[in-house]
Amino acid sequence: MMQQQIITQKHHSDTVSEAIIKTPQSSAVRDLFFNLAKDHDLGFVKTSTDQYICATPLGAIEISMETARITIRLRSPTQENLYTLQDSVTQHIAHKSEPLAASLQWTGSIKKGDTPPNFRLMTVVSSKRISSSYYRIRLHGDALASFAQDGLHVRLLLPNNPSDPKWPKIGSNGQTKWPTGKDTLHKPVYTIRWIDPQSGLLDIDIFIHDGGRTSIWAASVEPYKKVGIMGPGGGWHPNADWILLAGDATALPAIARILENTTKETQVTAIIKASSKEDETLTIAPDNGSITWISIIQPETELLKRVNSISIPKNKTRYVWFAGEKSMAQAVRQHFTSQGLSKQELYSAGYWKSKIPLL
Ligand SMILES: Cc1cc2nc3c(=O)[nH]c(=O)nc-3n(C[C@H](O)[C@H](O)[C@H](O)COP(=O)(O)OP(=O)(O)OC[C@H]3O[C@@H](n4cnc5c(N)ncnc54)[C@H](O)[C@@H]3O)c2cc1C
Repeated sequence: MMQQQIITQKHHSDTVSEAIIKTPQSSAVRDLFFNLAKDHDLGFVKTSTDQYICATPLGAIEISMETARITIRLRSPTQENLYTLQDSVTQHIAHKSEPLAASLQWTGSIKKGDTPPNFRLMTVVSSKRISSSYYRIRLHGDALASFAQDGLHVRLLLPNNPSDPKWPKIGSNGQTKWPTGKDTLHKPVYTIRWIDPQSGLLDIDIFIHDGGRTSIWAASVEPYKKVGIMGPGGGWHPNADWILLAGDATALPAIARILENTTKETQVTAIIKASSKEDETLTIAPDNGSITWISIIQPETELLKRVNSISIPKNKTRYVWFAGEKSMAQAVRQHFTSQGLSKQELYSAGYWKSKIPLL
């Protein structure tokens, strides 16, 4: 009952990236990878003497140890996922050892200086006010098939200088190199509310909040303007006999998409803290589920109170999915972990951080 299938099988069609690290301390580098995997609830398995493999939702990480050198091989079924894996492995190494990350030279199908394979240049089709709380942005782009699988979310890339935008490139160590200075991009994460790869269209629902740069952009953006997206990422539709979906206005687009995709065998309970009465028209409960709307006049903490009052069933597979303000997400995680839910049965994500403490 994992959110995403963990990729373990080797296929001839896999795309591969490889980096050789020359070091007299290969065991220390190997242990750094072991710790990285542990931080993400993943683990390496020994496949033969001095060979290890870690299966991740994006692909496999293989380690081969030789005298004074260690080879890291990444394998993935798609170029997009391979790049996301390479980028995130390099980023995480940088958190542990900046010089090691900077020295990495990945070889394989991903070339430095190219546009990242998970980037798409999109054209704005329309921006519509769908309720008092949201703009719906429709974007058009090519080759969107990978954005309709593997992840529900994208990073929206909004240029500071729309008349001469600069987009990310693959840096010399295989990591994304972002434009800087006057070309810096605003890069918030949003849910793909709807996608149709055949027509090349996707929708994003943007919640309007005070001073939000993306909602300000959505209010005035015109058709034919260019934006970038990168992704997808951030988890897939939960799958269980019983699912609790809950969150605030920023989570409504994801909850609505998940509700539309639940099978009739799944029993779903949704609890949503709406931002206006009109928001209640933006999704409907499936035959096998219910939605409880918490009104705008209720305090923010009402969401937490209602969510934490739900009893989780014991005799079926279950999944709790929550997204909202960071401190709320932490409180939900704490509560359901204490109720006995395992990491594989729980997603509780901070979608934004309030300047004023909510709890
Ligand atoms: C995986 C994921 C999926 C998401 N999906 C969606 C989605 O589909 N639709 C959506 O609207 N949002 C979504 N969000 C939340 C969104 O990314 C944040 O709200 C983000 O900060 C918005 O960027 P901005 O440019 O509007 O704000 P900024 O201009 O970057 O932020 C300015 C300030 O506004 C405050 N702020 C941010 N969000 C809120 C808020 N919701 N309410 C009140 N104050 C806020 C912050 O304190 C911030 O400092 C998602 C987040 C994640 C991580």
